[in-house]
Amino acid sequence: MSYVLVINSGSSSIKFQIVDPSSTAGDTAFVSGLVEKIGERGGKITVTYRGEKHTSNQPIRDHRGGLQLAVAMLDSLDAGPTQLDVVAVGHRVVHGGQTFSGPALITDEVVEQIRDLIPLAPLHNPANIDGIQVARDLLPDIPHVAVFDTGFFGDLPAAAATYAVNREVAEANQIRRYGFHGTSHEFVSGQVPGILGRDAAEVNQIVLHLGNGASCSAVKAGAPIDTSMGLTPLAGLVMGTRTGDIDPGIIFHLYRHAGMSIDEIDTLFNRSSGIKGLSGVNDFRDLHKKISKGDELAKLAFDVYITQLRRYIGAYMITLGRVDAITFTAGVGENDAATRAAALAGLETYGITLDPERNAAPNDGPRVITTDDSTVTVLVVPTNEELAIAQKSAEVAAR
Ligand code: ADP
Repeated sequence: MSYVLVINSGSSSIKFQIVDPSSTAGDTAFVSGLVEKIGERGGKITVTYRGEKHTSNQPIRDHRGGLQLAVAMLDSLDAGPTQLDVVAVGHRVVHGGQTFSGPALITDEVVEQIRDLIPLAPLHNPANIDGIQVARDLLPDIPHVAVFDTGFFGDLPAAAATYAVNREVAEANQIRRYGFHGTSHEFVSGQVPGILGRDAAEVNQIVLHLGNGASCSAVKAGAPIDTSMGLTPLAGLVMGTRTGDIDPGIIFHLYRHAGMSIDEIDTLFNRSSGIKGLSGVNDFRDLHKKISKGDELAKLAFDVYITQLRRYIGAYMITLGRVDAITFTAGVGENDAATRAAALAGLETYGITLDPERNAAPNDGPRVITTDDSTVTVLVVPTNEELAIAQKSAEVAAR
């Protein structure tokens, strides 16, 4: 059995999984783990292997120290990357800019190219590079592959990718719509034709990736023709802590009249806005608890979220002309029946009829939640970004 080690390196955490890339669905992680609070108090490493959780609490100075400890812990369980047949290490990289429209075998030059894209993703790409460098040093004999969150959207039609910002300024600063969560949109949209029993070339679909971050895409014959995130993952739908689309004039207003710095506005929009900024909580389970207790701010937050979601669904129905499938995925999309019901309520005229019982069923693999006579099929398809990264990485490593 051969495996891929998948690494998602963030600013203060590293998530990893050892995945069998030939697995098809369900829980595909052979081993999974998390290094938390890197460079902070309360460092912790957790590894789950064969259903058992192993934890180690200790200070973790940096990404190098964290990954070293994680590999040592895996080795002690006989599940280390050099003990198993690990054929590739797949790294999730947030921004591939206009340089990468698909996964790339990592070389020194590729690392430099990812570094050159830091201005486009100042919070994410540096942490991704840390993870890559440490893992390459620790596992030099295994091919490393970068899989970009923007990759799937590299060939968006020019009219969808171009902002109506002065062309010279936009070109000089690489300003365009890049789109994110591409690995998830590609993985989920790739499953839908099979579930419908149709050829991918015939299927027009809308994919709603609703997690803590949220985005949607319009996919025609397997290729995206529009997506809600933009130059950065701040655009589009309302999210757990991010604004989604807002009038850019709000930035000038806060800068000029509230005396906020650009960094303060950046933090406000990314970390303390969205559902959290409106209601005080960002997890939909907590939001529903508040709503059921009559909390009006929580109800407003949910309504704002749904209103924005419906704006995009409506827009993409027109963009696609004919819609065959609308698919919900990620934490909220897979688990929150109330969000799905509200997002598609009253759209029977457009051929969308949810079946309330199917919609309320627990999340257990891909399923259809519309009635049999609904013209548009609405589905819930669990995403699995780690499996998708593993598959792509194994493919690139075998070339
Ligand atoms: P990310 O990968 O972006 O951190 P996920 O896709 O895991 O996020 O989604 C996490 C979110 O999913 C949580 O913040 C919560 O709002 C929502 N969620 C998870 N489980 C449930 C559930 N059972 N019911 C409603 N919402 C849920």
